[in-house]
Amino acid sequence: MTTPKPIKRKAQPQRPTPKKDRSGSPQTTAKQNPVPDTGDKPYGLVPLPAKGVDRQFPAGQNRFRKDLVSGKLYLTLTAQTSTFVASGIVAMGRDVNFKVDLIKTAVHHKNTLIIPGSSLKGVIRSTYEALTRSCLCKTKARREELPPGYGECKIKKDQVEVCPACRVFGAMGWQGLVSFADVVGQKASTSIGFMPSLYRPRTENPMYQNNGRVAGRKFYHHAVKAIDAGEQRGIPVQQAAEAYVFKTALQFKNLTEAELGTLFVILGQDSDYPIALKVGGGKPVGMGTLVATVEALEKPASPEDRYTRYALPESDRLTDEPLKNYMQAAIASAHQKLIESYQLQELARILAYPTQRTAPEGMY
Ligand SMILES: [Zn+2]
Repeated sequence: MTTPKPIKRKAQPQRPTPKKDRSGSPQTTAKQNPVPDTGDKPYGLVPLPAKGVDRQFPAGQNRFRKDLVSGKLYLTLTAQTSTFVASGIVAMGRDVNFKVDLIKTAVHHKNTLIIPGSSLKGVIRSTYEALTRSCLCKTKARREELPPGYGECKIKKDQVEVCPACRVFGAMGWQGLVSFADVVGQKASTSIGFMPSLYRPRTENPMYQNNGRVAGRKFYHHAVKAIDAGEQRGIPVQQAAEAYVFKTALQFKNLTEAELGTLFVILGQDSDYPIALKVGGGKPVGMGTLVATVEALEKPASPEDRYTRYALPESDRLTDEPLKNYMQAAIASAHQKLIESYQLQELARILAYPTQRTAPEGMY
């Protein structure tokens, strides 16, 4: 009843030697879109790949495919600067044990802070989009502002191909292959911050330098420290202070090694491109820098699971050195098959962490 699909077996046990220059796609000599100039703004723009969106048939979700990787990734996220993910609720200070009249609250459970899984997914997705030949589907830009071919992927009867990001994170009519659980703080937080009220100048948005069309994807720089406007001028927010620790797990199914490797790069696991995540409010003033640690990778044990190259036969949980080796192999595959090296250079420049940058004063 089912026609067996030709499955491309991976060469084993070794992986292919990564290219020396790690230049990713073969078309390195092709003309690239220019990097839009953002001047002294607290963000940069990653140009869109000149080659356009690469849409392909996505892997099925209904069964585990043996040539693909399924499992669970355990992450620790540590705040490097104060971090605030708004719940949308303004509370009386005394109701959440703060000595202010009103406070913008974070999502929390008895003052243990929570970053909704959807927030982390959004951050990781937009980074994944920037590194691959993906569509512009989470943009606020209007349709006529999108370069040709960059419109959102939609699964229809006559069109089932989707871009790399939609394949992994989902599209209209396609569930995606990763799911994000909530990111849970490891203790009650007592920190209160005073976020500057930010305004966004609407004029000469460098995002649209490309004849009125979207020229790149926007990412805020990290800073050594977030600016706190103080009680007189700032808006009280329930924040995660520096060094506050969150934990979460990310479940995935039927990913290629390159797709998993791209996630590792985004999580800052590529020593050639040290980057951190930027989450929540106050990004222009240095808030929301989170450094990820991959604690463990769990893959379902299966007797015929013969492509687990680094795990001990009895182990389906990788940590420490075996995990590191596994991640490096996946990252090499990502550079070779999926990541656009020109876009990665620019993204890594913008999101570089640790950093010496200071957040701009006088934004408020
Ligand atoms: Zn797409």
